[in-house]
Amino acid sequence: MKEEKIYIIGAGISGLIAALELERAGFRPVILEASDRIGGRMKTDKVDGFLLDHGFQVLNTAYPEAKKYLDFQALHLKTFDPGAVIFDQNDTYIISDPMRNPLKVVSMAFSKVGTFMDKVKMFSLTQELKNKSNQEIFAGENIPTHQYLKNYGFSDRIIENFFSPFFRGIFLEKHLNTSARMFEFVFKMFAQGHAAVPEKGMGEIPAMIREQLSETQIYFNHPVKEVQGNAIHLDNGETLIADRVIIAVQPDRVMKQLQGQFGSPRKVWNLYFTLQRSFLARPMIGLLPGDHLVNNIVFMDDVSEAYANGDRSLLSVTVLEADMDQKTLISQVQQELSKISGVKADYFKFLKLYEISYALPHVDDMKYEIAPTACKITDQVFLAGDYLLNGSINAAMTSGRTAAQAIIHSYMPTH
Ligand SMILES: Cc1cc2nc3c(=O)[nH]c(=O)nc-3n(C[C@H](O)[C@H](O)[C@H](O)COP(=O)(O)OP(=O)(O)OC[C@H]3O[C@@H](n4cnc5c(N)ncnc54)[C@H](O)[C@@H]3O)c2cc1C
Repeated sequence: MKEEKIYIIGAGISGLIAALELERAGFRPVILEASDRIGGRMKTDKVDGFLLDHGFQVLNTAYPEAKKYLDFQALHLKTFDPGAVIFDQNDTYIISDPMRNPLKVVSMAFSKVGTFMDKVKMFSLTQELKNKSNQEIFAGENIPTHQYLKNYGFSDRIIENFFSPFFRGIFLEKHLNTSARMFEFVFKMFAQGHAAVPEKGMGEIPAMIREQLSETQIYFNHPVKEVQGNAIHLDNGETLIADRVIIAVQPDRVMKQLQGQFGSPRKVWNLYFTLQRSFLARPMIGLLPGDHLVNNIVFMDDVSEAYANGDRSLLSVTVLEADMDQKTLISQVQQELSKISGVKADYFKFLKLYEISYALPHVDDMKYEIAPTACKITDQVFLAGDYLLNGSINAAMTSGRTAAQAIIHSYMPTH
């Protein structure tokens, strides 16, 4: 074992993957984590027998990095049915598999969201993206998704009824200003894989990476105040001197000189309610097109029974903008849920609200990967985290692997 002092700041997915790669190369890294657990933005709480993920999120089974680091079978992945249930103004309908097999979607159902030409275009987009590498996708034009969809010739109807609510829930912003590179990547992942959650919650993902670590020490409740050169100043007044540091959190948090260099992150409100039983009764995402408070809903126990306690169903509700107090928010969401389901508003029993102020990073120039040299800021300080590439589990994993590779390389003899 090598004795170099390598510190990783942050025990999110990127920090954990960096530790794993460093261990594989014979190092014994130390992770400094501000909170009392691993996972960062990917955590699951247990409340009254229900499993509550911190924000509705899914793993896509086509993510290339996830296939490398996770054992999908051991996670007992539970997949969503592709497509969505659409709650239109006066109608509810299912649009099954529009991104994998658009030509197979029953015409009657498709005609409710878009035109025949939309269907044909959806098919050609699916084919195009299947033949495009992820690197090519991220080298593509950096235009907003809403403009890309127009340029591609999709009708306003399909944009409004399907693309907008579906991708708003992924980009966590209302106007589809996110780069078309991310749109193409996500579309391709949905065309090739399935949205899934581990049987016992998203927190099982970081837990599975941690299980693979045997030489890494993790110091919980150790927030880092500042990194100056190779000195790490902790909130508790201690200073650690490192041979190498990986900053696996947006670095403006620990490097004063970078403050103001990052755009505002995406926020999200995730509300959990319990109900006697699911009104969707299928493992599918429900979308509310148009101008609603609620963007998307899922009964988590329709996807994995273990999310609920056996008595009542667990409904996860995603809200993208909520300029109101908590009480009003809960009551307005209950009203909207009642309207789409016909179930009385007060039957939706509020369980918990997660207000997530940093859900996804603001990234102007989204990338699929970077060279190890690009994540090195000095000879001793390296960066990891999804903010370097794009806001996804896949990107967080890639960034952690790349930072570790850069450090491993930095110890190689140069001649
Ligand atoms: C609501 C929501 C929905 C999402 N949906 C999806 C989805 O469907 N699919 C998908 O692929 N991705 C999704 N994501 C994104 C995905 O969760 C992230 O890309 C990924 O978890 C980021 O990992 P990370 O290691 O880069 O950062 P983080 O998870 O943020 O980890 C950073 C870690 O650093 C710690 N830390 C912070 N400051 C300090 C400090 N000063 N000192 C020490 N430690 C510190 C934090 O406590 C944290 O543990 C979603 C995220 C959210 C929040």
